[in-house]
Amino acid sequence: MGSKHLRVMILGTGPAGLTAAIYAARANLAPLVIEGNEPGGQLTLTSEVENFPGFENGIMGPELMNNMRNQAERFGAEFATGWVTSVNLSQRPFQVTVNDEDEYEADALIVSTGASARLLGIKGETELIGRGVSTCATCDGFFYRNKRIMVIGGGDSAMEEATFLTKFASEVTIVHRRNELRASKFMQERARENPKIKWLLNVTPVAVHERERKVGALEVVDNASGETRMVDTEGIFVSIGHSPNTGFLNGQLKLDGAGYIVTEGVTTTTSVEGVFACGDVMDPCYRQAITAAGSGCKAALDVEKFLEGSAAHSNWSLASTT
Ligand code: NAP
Repeated sequence: MGSKHLRVMILGTGPAGLTAAIYAARANLAPLVIEGNEPGGQLTLTSEVENFPGFENGIMGPELMNNMRNQAERFGAEFATGWVTSVNLSQRPFQVTVNDEDEYEADALIVSTGASARLLGIKGETELIGRGVSTCATCDGFFYRNKRIMVIGGGDSAMEEATFLTKFASEVTIVHRRNELRASKFMQERARENPKIKWLLNVTPVAVHERERKVGALEVVDNASGETRMVDTEGIFVSIGHSPNTGFLNGQLKLDGAGYIVTEGVTTTTSVEGVFACGDVMDPCYRQAITAAGSGCKAALDVEKFLEGSAAHSNWSLASTT
């Protein structure tokens, strides 16, 4: 069977991909959006989103993503479910293989594959995923009713997850490798004011230990004294950030030292002409739903310009935005 030809393919369905889909569909580019293993992206793993403009009283993450998807569909975007297994960016049209079997070709590509939760890489951690180790508080918090659990990390996500988990758990200990937290003041304060949250700071986790086939304890090294300690716990939520999903690119786009796709100036242009990147896969800095959505809009506008006339996007100037 031959490849299906498209003007634009969008890889990923987080806020970036879906916003790109809305704009590309409204530009009559009939985009095909590939929806991977985490449809809707990271926002579907959160509960209430309080800082997305336009929702005065907040909105649930999955509902927001569902609305964006319906909006894209309403303008003619099409969706296919699958995992992008490889791409060939050496010639145009680009080739995209989904699930190792479905072949597509596209005149332009928008990469919005986001980022996935990082793990600590310590002994016992992956073995105990689903048996007490989790990377998603909103997915698994419910199972920890009245239990004593931990959240590892010192960023906004760790504060948010710990606060959320106090709805279920009897006690949540935030475990962090330094004395200072990376999280914003507001999120730190909210956690500090919560009587169910305890703190275990300046320790390095070294192993997760099993008890009766479930998580039983976290082994940590105290960074000040160098001593090793076992801390009993019934659940461990790892919240140490995310890694951009770029493996399928197989080195064909320029990445920075941390693996994020490098884009040019204020545009979403990548190192390959006709390939654009938006959202968390190219943003090591802001990583917010609204910034991802904004860059998705930019990617669709860049694609539109690119398809209108060869490399017109590189002449993108302030004058052309009016
Ligand atoms: P992050 O800001 O990168 O924080 C990751 C945390 O994990 C850091 O405290 C880091 O420690 C720790 N860490 C990283 N690798 C580790 C390792 N191997 N062992 C132990 N600890 C490790 O990630 P994030 O909290 O997921 O936040 C990502 C972005 O989303 C941020 O821009 C954040 O502001 C945003 N966010 C916003 C909200 C909100 O406003 N509602 C909610 C969640 C996230 P160090 O501090 O020592 O490096």
